[in-house]
Amino acid sequence: MELDTSLQYIKGVGPKLVNTLLKVDLKDVKDALFYFPRQYEDRRTIPKIAEAKKEDSMFFVGTVLWTKKEFTGNRKKIFKIGISDGTGDLSCIFFNQHFLSTSIKAGKKVFVKGKVEFNRFDGKYNLQVSEHEVLSKTDNLNVGRILPVYNLTQGLVQKKIRTIVADCVRGCLASLSDYFLPDFKEQNNLITLKEAVYKMHYPKDRVDYTAARRRIVFDEFFFMQLMIAKKRYVQQKNVVGISFHKETLLYQKYLDQLPYELTNAQHRVIQEVFADMTKDKPMNRLVQGDVGSGKTEIAVAALMNAVENGYQAAFMAPTEILAWQHYEKISKLLTPLGIRVEFLAGKLKKKQKETVKDYLASNMVDVVIGTHALIQDTVSIPYLGLAIVDEQHRFGVVQRAKLASHNQSAPDILVMTATPIPRSLTLTVYGDLDKSIIDEMPPGRKKIQTYWKRSPSQVYEFIRERLKNGEQVYYVLPLVEESDKIDLKAATEVFDSFTNDIFPEHKVGLIHGKLKPRDKEAVMESFRKKEINILVATTVIEVGIDVPNASVMVIEHSERFGLSQLHQLRGRVGRGTQESFCVLVSASKSQDAKKRMEVMCGTSDGFKIAEEDLAIRGPGDYFGTKQSGVPSLIMGDIVKDEKLLVEARNVAVEMIYKDPELESGENAAIKKELTLRSEYLLGHESMN
Ligand code: ADP
Ligand code: MG
Repeated sequence: MELDTSLQYIKGVGPKLVNTLLKVDLKDVKDALFYFPRQYEDRRTIPKIAEAKKEDSMFFVGTVLWTKKEFTGNRKKIFKIGISDGTGDLSCIFFNQHFLSTSIKAGKKVFVKGKVEFNRFDGKYNLQVSEHEVLSKTDNLNVGRILPVYNLTQGLVQKKIRTIVADCVRGCLASLSDYFLPDFKEQNNLITLKEAVYKMHYPKDRVDYTAARRRIVFDEFFFMQLMIAKKRYVQQKNVVGISFHKETLLYQKYLDQLPYELTNAQHRVIQEVFADMTKDKPMNRLVQGDVGSGKTEIAVAALMNAVENGYQAAFMAPTEILAWQHYEKISKLLTPLGIRVEFLAGKLKKKQKETVKDYLASNMVDVVIGTHALIQDTVSIPYLGLAIVDEQHRFGVVQRAKLASHNQSAPDILVMTATPIPRSLTLTVYGDLDKSIIDEMPPGRKKIQTYWKRSPSQVYEFIRERLKNGEQVYYVLPLVEESDKIDLKAATEVFDSFTNDIFPEHKVGLIHGKLKPRDKEAVMESFRKKEINILVATTVIEVGIDVPNASVMVIEHSERFGLSQLHQLRGRVGRGTQESFCVLVSASKSQDAKKRMEVMCGTSDGFKIAEEDLAIRGPGDYFGTKQSGVPSLIMGDIVKDEKLLVEARNVAVEMIYKDPELESGENAAIKKELTLRSEYLLGHESMN
């Protein structure tokens, strides 16, 4: 038996089972070795029959005293046995299995497991058997120890997979070689790979299991980090970037007419960005700053610098409305300085689109702001020197790469996000980016008071009060995917009842996903101009919308939103000078919803919220798409195992620093393993 021996050659595996095993990705012996248990069953101590009590699952070992074939009242077959272990005796019932009488006979020792019930007629307990085994005198693998419990699939039973894995471990574990040298293992407190694999399947106790899991998870993290570190290295080494001069004439002019002072954090981050831009290596920087922290200023500074150096720049946003808002804001700032700014999005008229594309191709546009439309193949930006991506969590890593491929020498890339990214993710998904954090809010911001109410009617009076003060209100309704129609109806109904019954004296607006971008923009514009007092909205207003006079955010059915989304929405208010409020309306009784409401009412720290959110939802869901770019891991959990993740990362980074190409002899086995694992880690597309 070799590691790459197909499982079809394992005893007891027929052609049908081979196909079944493929369903759980088991092809060869090595796969079986690494098919780790989903959980364990502790059979180290066998309960005494005298301890039997009413319970859904118990097990015993005893000697068979008697056997009996019976029929129930409705002619069902029952096989009954009596067993004893010296402390007492117990009747065990097998349904529909008369045939067992040939293998289970008086005098044999058996293991039985199942549901224990109390029989009122004879005043004794009995066991309805779901799992059993006739024990041999010597080799009793399934009692007296901790048993692995594997994931199953239709056609694969626990007993079978246990035997297959055991055969593979017995036959081949010895030939599993370790890619880590003894010194390396010692330094990092790791047991050998063989030992780890063995103990994953057959831990003696918790200590065994912990040591084994540490090794397996370390390896997963380590190779993932090695891949990221290597990618970074290659990126830095091979790719020629643009070295911008730091000509900040325009920028200075811009700063001079800015009505406020930049915060220290903004200044610092801008300097970090400028420093990257002057290097001849492409910038790959992530700017993270809570909603309202003033990321736009960072973008504007970078855009000016690029344009001043004679390059074109692109600014990409996740939605049309957001792109349009950025366009309006940024073009107002840049056009007076002689910078040519254009807007490009999918829903523009064909002719308009063509015109913008022509302008771009002939370098008659300096800054283009738009949506995904910017990364379509037909768009050519010949002098692209800088690409800014706003709210990156909606963009795959792939799109980011596509932006970069516009040009021969790689443009600088700046990614901005308001979704605070927990460290475990900055180490994985964003592991290839440098980070800047805007950890300071512009002065004068007031804390947003957050409340949880059970029903909408409890909020109306409060809304009326605020409206009297001349403030404005967002009233958000959830958008449930795949049911736009229902949502629209809900939004329209609320709009109608607000307009006609509840707030007839005020102007109510409605914005939803089905509106054309221009219409959406028109509604937003009226809201900005205070022509609308209450804006009823589906979540189209989620990111980036900026109306300082709006001071109240009401979110109906808030249990349907994730934490980060709630935080984003809340960030729409508290932008002006007046006191601001967020009211979460939810009648939900679910524990999960309750937890989220409490987190929201308890903290306004976006970072804390993000960590909670990630812990609740897991990385895949956290980003709202499957293509989250989180490398595939089997055992490791980037949230729960963060400490080990950081350890593994440090080791990987140091290794690449010392031996970037992994050329040294001592790293040869690691290099080989990295190649093997990269494919899996990358899944289909994620990091390239
Ligand atoms: P973000 O994109 O990070 O959510 P914005 O860039 O939209 O935040 O800024 C939010 C609001 O704060 C805007 O109205 C902006 O004009 C204002 N702002 C930005 N920087 C400052 C500052 N240093 N001082 C005062 N107000 C600022
Ligand atoms: Mg923004």
